[in-house]
Amino acid sequence: MTAKIVMMPGDGIGPDIANEAERVLDALGEHHGLDYRLERVDVGGAAIDATGDPLPEASLEAARDADAVLFGAIGGPKWDAQPRDKRPESGLLKLRSELGLFANLRPAMLFPQLADSSALKAELVADLDILIVRELTGGIYFGQPAGTDTSANGQREAYNTMRYDVSEIRRIGEAALKAAQARGGRLCSVDKANVLHVSQLWRDVMNELAGDYPDVALTHMYVDNAAMQLVREPNQFDTVVTGNLFGDILSDTAAMLTGSIGMLPSASLDAAGKGMYEPVHGSAPDIAGRDAANPLAMILSVAMMCRYSLGRGDLADRVESAVGRVLDSGLRTADIADGAKATSGTAATGQAVANMLG
Ligand code: NAD
Repeated sequence: MTAKIVMMPGDGIGPDIANEAERVLDALGEHHGLDYRLERVDVGGAAIDATGDPLPEASLEAARDADAVLFGAIGGPKWDAQPRDKRPESGLLKLRSELGLFANLRPAMLFPQLADSSALKAELVADLDILIVRELTGGIYFGQPAGTDTSANGQREAYNTMRYDVSEIRRIGEAALKAAQARGGRLCSVDKANVLHVSQLWRDVMNELAGDYPDVALTHMYVDNAAMQLVREPNQFDTVVTGNLFGDILSDTAAMLTGSIGMLPSASLDAAGKGMYEPVHGSAPDIAGRDAANPLAMILSVAMMCRYSLGRGDLADRVESAVGRVLDSGLRTADIADGAKATSGTAATGQAVANMLG
């Protein structure tokens, strides 16, 4: 069946890296039987310029109709003065909520060739390959009641509610168990069940679900310990699942273990496994259009799309291995050159990955 992929290049370096993702898709189609149809649509500042709306109805419809969305990056100084609902970022937030993308997958993967870029000692992070699965549409960021008030003794007070129901935990739990199944077969569920009722429910539901996945080894860890273990011995983790707040913090910590923002892909999935795939970095207006952006986070997002939405884990492995071999060959954009001069640009890096797939 032909996969429908929608490409949203966006702003800044978005179009630069989107071109390289397309080059890799071409190679996967030509040499490895990926059957797909690609449609490019506007989002963010580019869409504001074209239509006045950061997420035009036609773009949203195309995304709804697709099997997967590849998203570059959005935003830039040109649109910073717009009212909040007319800023590029509101297009991205609307897209996530309209598509029901409740599971955020953030791999922290360190290619051994870049071990010296990490904030940790190279031997601690060599071959680092963690996937953090964060619940994205519930928990304390959305729970009610939330607000500000005056307390009984006349003080200003503020409160938020960390709340999950069983169905919300089940769907993120299942997404994480499936992701663990497609990787190393180990899942660590992170919570604060020694203190929080909501975490005890989370833990109970995770234990129930795990019975349906005998090939995944489920463990539990308190979030304070998990934060410590992530920097003490990160390689003990394979896949991690956690709620919105804990995941927000832990995924950024894990990302920094790799030391390079230009290498980090991400996925946000709905209940049916349809997903949006995007680099973790922003639109980098300072280097846009100069053939200086690292396209590898975007190319690794293509790999994630193959694994999680297109059922082609074999192609994901090929792309990740091709990226490793390109790094072996010494090609480095400035962000991963460790202070030295860049040895490659955006297009040459993308072309090198495509060549490795030939
Ligand atoms: P940024 O990630 O765009 O850039 C931070 C620094 O990292 C810059 O020096 C940039 O040159 C560098 N960098 C980022 N990606 C790179 C790449 N692929 N290769 C080489 N270097 C890279 O973050 P910022 O500067 O805080 O934000 C710039 C714009 O991006 C803002 O408008 C912001 O709102 C937007 N933004 C968008 C997203 C998104 O689209 N998902 C995420 C974050 C920020």
